[in-house]
Amino acid sequence: MHELSICHSIADIVTRHAGGRPVRTVHLRIGQLRQIVPDTLVYCWSLVSQDTALEGSELRVESIPAQIRCAECDHVETLTAPVMRCGMCGGQQVSVVAGDEFLITSLELAEA
Ligand SMILES: [Zn+2]
Repeated sequence: MHELSICHSIADIVTRHAGGRPVRTVHLRIGQLRQIVPDTLVYCWSLVSQDTALEGSELRVESIPAQIRCAECDHVETLTAPVMRCGMCGGQQVSVVAGDEFLITSLELAEA
């Protein structure tokens, strides 16, 4: 379960950025190719934040669908299954254009 170690990393980053101010919500953007289960991540967050300054803060995960671009015909396709093939021409010379994101997009801090 790598969600737990991911939560530790997020907590480190958030704590640094909050600079002692109380954090209400952490917004994350995670690509679907990352194979992270958002519900598991939220659960791990409650464990990791417990008894720290981040206790009670909320993790909001936005899931980004995976997209690939075909080198043959430049078609961009959103993947519904993990098949790296162009749906337009069947080409397999594709590159991932979306879906491997892992970003903290914003923090909501409580009023001082
Ligand atoms: Zn193609």
